[in-house]
Amino acid sequence: MSHIVVIGAGQAGASLVAKLRNAGFDGEITLIGAETAPPYQRPPLSKAYLLGEMELERLYLRPESFYDDQNITLRLGTKVDAIDATTREVVIGDERLAYDQLAITTGSTPRQLPASIGGSLEGVHVVRTLDDVDRMEPEVSPGRRVLIIGGGYIGLEAAAVAAKKGLKVTLVEMADRILQRVAAPETSDYFRALHRAHGVEILEGVGLERLVGDTRVTGAILSDGTELELDFAIVGVGIAPDTALAESAGLVLDNGIKTDAQGRTSDPAIWAAGDCASFPYRGTRIRLESVPNAIDQAEVVARNMLGESVDYVAKPWFWSDQYDVKLQIAGLNSGYDNIVTRPGDNAGSVSYWYYQGDTLLAVDAMNDPRAYMVGKRLIEGGKSPAKEAVADPAVELKTLLK
Ligand code: FAD
Repeated sequence: MSHIVVIGAGQAGASLVAKLRNAGFDGEITLIGAETAPPYQRPPLSKAYLLGEMELERLYLRPESFYDDQNITLRLGTKVDAIDATTREVVIGDERLAYDQLAITTGSTPRQLPASIGGSLEGVHVVRTLDDVDRMEPEVSPGRRVLIIGGGYIGLEAAAVAAKKGLKVTLVEMADRILQRVAAPETSDYFRALHRAHGVEILEGVGLERLVGDTRVTGAILSDGTELELDFAIVGVGIAPDTALAESAGLVLDNGIKTDAQGRTSDPAIWAAGDCASFPYRGTRIRLESVPNAIDQAEVVARNMLGESVDYVAKPWFWSDQYDVKLQIAGLNSGYDNIVTRPGDNAGSVSYWYYQGDTLLAVDAMNDPRAYMVGKRLIEGGKSPAKEAVADPAVELKTLLK
């Protein structure tokens, strides 16, 4: 009987094994995860769960009984040490587990601050896993002072939660503006104003010189010489694809584990999906760090592992929740050279439409789900509405689809 092993029991791994069964695979499936919790969703870790508004069980992607019911062997708290691609075995301590086909869904790892600048002091946190958040949760209490390092989505979401919980929040961003890597200046301006309105101090163009403390962080010195007193710090300076196992197997890497359009790595018996995989997209190669990508790509990989021949055609979308604002993003904005602003129907609702010349690439919609939906349909259909029509709130959104 054929044995499929999946390493990484996160969003992509859980979606992949479910799809294998759903598509009729009746061989052996083993899903191996280093964390002790059953596969869970990460987005609430910097949103509702951190805020204390979501029960643990609601984080789980499926009830724990699902894996037994589907005859999937779920091995939690188990870190795979290496892959031996020549013998088709995964190595776990002294154990060698044979596979016929293997999928790597190991996700990504947050970048840490170096110990030389205080990165290993107590009270310095990252937000990637349930354990990270459970460790940090007791720190997040009213009146305490937190420094957030990094003004990307995770840093900003953590800032919003901390501010809502009554902490004194300072956020430093080394680049000229928050969200610089991922969004237009208009979107940065929107979120800067939102955070400032909630009392968060946002410092841009200022780096962290170092964190200060003997064993526990007590302060920070910034690159402009500012000294801050702190109770704890949260580091949100990006993530790196987890490619350690792929390297151990001698697989080709290219900003993550390099796959073909179907999710196959340079070893035909090994597949990859989710944050760790880079794949062809519109003549280039990308890696996406998002839930929709993890699910859709994993499901395509599952089908291909079972003998279909389906290309993964990514339809990028993403969201972020901060205070009472829901940001929804459709498309990928890289290469944009002009932005069209469309006011929404309510105060605080607006959308920014990214164009390259006259071609629509992406839409950031704040509290404007209809602008997001219409933008998404246009982008997926390869259609670019006239900019004057987009900018004119008197033009009904749905007419843009015609
Ligand atoms: P993961 O879900 O990270 O799963 C990988 C798993 O592999 C991990 O459990 C890891 O422990 C395990 N693993 C790694 N190495 C080994 C090994 N050697 N042996 C065994 N197991 C191993 N995306 C959105 O679309 N919208 C959001 O709003 C959003 N918010 C986010 C907020 C936070 C705080 C975080 C951390 C992420 C957020 N994301 C969001 C991103 C999204 O959660 C990820 O893109 C998604 O989880 C990727 O799924 P994955 O399966 O590739 O990786």
